[in-house]
Amino acid sequence: MKKTVTKIGVLTSGGDAPGMNAAVRAVVRTGIYHGLEVFGIMRGYTGMVENDIFKMEGRSVANIIQRGGTILKTSRCKEFLTPEGRKKAYGNLKKLGIDGLVIIGGDGSFRGAQTFSNEYDIPCVGLPGTIDKDIAGTDFTIGFDTAVNTAVEAIDKIRDTADAHDRLFIIEVMGRDAGYIALHSGIATGAENILIPERKTDIEEVIKQLAEKERRHKLVNLIVVAEGDDFGGADEVAKIITQRLPMQEVRVCILGHIQRGGSPSCFDRLIASRMGYSAVECLLEGRHNVFVGMVNNRMHYTPLNEAVKKKQRISEEWMKIVKILAS
Ligand code: ADP
Repeated sequence: MKKTVTKIGVLTSGGDAPGMNAAVRAVVRTGIYHGLEVFGIMRGYTGMVENDIFKMEGRSVANIIQRGGTILKTSRCKEFLTPEGRKKAYGNLKKLGIDGLVIIGGDGSFRGAQTFSNEYDIPCVGLPGTIDKDIAGTDFTIGFDTAVNTAVEAIDKIRDTADAHDRLFIIEVMGRDAGYIALHSGIATGAENILIPERKTDIEEVIKQLAEKERRHKLVNLIVVAEGDDFGGADEVAKIITQRLPMQEVRVCILGHIQRGGSPSCFDRLIASRMGYSAVECLLEGRHNVFVGMVNNRMHYTPLNEAVKKKQRISEEWMKIVKILAS
């Protein structure tokens, strides 16, 4: 017999991503629709450990679908990494009678949920909220589309000024372990080169290509670098290019945290709504300790312990397209 869920908690954890609010709204309203009591847990696992938990109503999530950030706030919680911290968290949930959890976050948050539900009998369902899109078992994550569009908008503006001065711009986008923001924004803005953590950067090849373009007087160049590229971030790349190609006027622009903020795109609102709805159905149907993803536009459920291990591979074909289109 599957455990019947009656009171659920929802939290946002780890790195924030635009669209988390839309997901919270969907969880709260679907839960209430099904007659559940829904509790908001503040600042991720910190709220669970510190008992910062409050009852939510349908109207608690009014007017948030369009807002970036997360009304529940988020955090990284060291205490939850310890058995004592998780015991405290369990005690707090138990006091309120919370018997199911929806965790909106990245692979770290899923790891936490998996550990917690192995130790205590509280079913968890994850929703992939991360701008990096680096979780296997889903084609998209909540926040990626908004972040990449923010990057595209910014890079387009940089191109205008690069063009006015015939400059080479090295633009650093977010992605410590994953190059999806760099890859998508780089292709969409016509970058000459895209440097990502999933691939070894051949800096000699980058210089060779730039030197060849210099000969052809193609002076406006954009290189998009993910912050976690193996060669280093934009500053490192700029340093070596300046040394090796002194004729190039090189500038660096680090986009930084603007990629995390802003009103979520239509796409992120849609997937957040669908996934949030689906997470509550999972808890009710006894599909526990999974995270909800979307594959080929259909809901897809991956056990939490598998979601944390895999990383998506970036197709070589994409890299070939970059090279051909930027020539
Ligand atoms: P993200 O979810 O964005 O990947 P983190 O990796 O920082 O973010 O994880 C968020 C939080 O999840 C951590 O601060 C910690 O509280 C919890 N967490 C991560 N890994 C574990 C684990 N192995 N056991 C318990 N909690 C964990």
